[in-house]
Amino acid sequence: MNSTLFSPSPGTYWSHFEEISKYHIRLSVAERLWAAWYAYMQNDVLATGIMSFVMHEVVYFGRALPWIIVDGLGLFKQYKIQSNKVPSVREQWDCAKLVLLSHFTVELPQIWLFHPMAQFFGLSATVPFPSLWTMAYQIAIFFVLEDTWHYFSHRALHWGPLYKAIHKIHHQYSAPFGLAAEYASPIEVMALGFGTVGCPILWCALTGDLHILTMYIWIVLRLFQAIDAHSGYEFPWSLHHFLPFWAGADHHDVHHEKFVGNYASSFRWWDYLLDTEYTPEAVRRWRAQKLAKTSKKKS
Ligand SMILES: [Zn+2]
Ligand SMILES: [Zn+2]
Repeated sequence: MNSTLFSPSPGTYWSHFEEISKYHIRLSVAERLWAAWYAYMQNDVLATGIMSFVMHEVVYFGRALPWIIVDGLGLFKQYKIQSNKVPSVREQWDCAKLVLLSHFTVELPQIWLFHPMAQFFGLSATVPFPSLWTMAYQIAIFFVLEDTWHYFSHRALHWGPLYKAIHKIHHQYSAPFGLAAEYASPIEVMALGFGTVGCPILWCALTGDLHILTMYIWIVLRLFQAIDAHSGYEFPWSLHHFLPFWAGADHHDVHHEKFVGNYASSFRWWDYLLDTEYTPEAVRRWRAQKLAKTSKKKS
């Protein structure tokens, strides 16, 4: 069901909503709101493009806002991981400006390509929406796939030449804060963003079963994950205390502080399996391994 199928006559958004409600009584309110948006816009590329861009901005800055307030008011100081490094308002403002600039110059044109690409790979934008179960299991798969992509590409970005040319920007803040989640080179945004956008598209190309709404919910959750991992706060109620394999701020903060280890985004298993999990004990082992290597070379 797209704009051409739904009331081709021009009208206000709410007149479309009413008309759809009249003839499609089985649709939920959310589904009617969705369908009315596409009918009102009369242009699916524009409809998806605007919705995607606005959603990204609202979620990114909306999720970062509580952390800005926490830092600004000095709340939860006892839970700040690097307690001596609370970011100043100035620092956060400078970061926000660069993030905004990259959203408008780098991400906006890409978001515009999203609907044609989604159509090409067969993503659905129609109503009714998929079931909650379908959305939940697909999102769980995307979390696992993205984390894998992120682990290996992030680890590659720590290789000397790539680090200097691309990833150094993201490491400007050795004590991260929520807004710094997307503070990165445009090349990095594209390379790591492939995990977030490319994995679901690949899934759809293989299975032919993905709704744009599922993609949106996945991106919202992934944004929450990235911003919270950069928040700089570790609480007794943080998710990894309940899900031991969840990464969170406890995992990523130390990556910013030490520049080594903990390369994954959402989960801890890749770092654990490939011995890149940062612990004092692991650091001693890595040092010993390095020493043994260099003395072997010399002899
Ligand atoms: Zn890094
Ligand atoms: Zn980071």
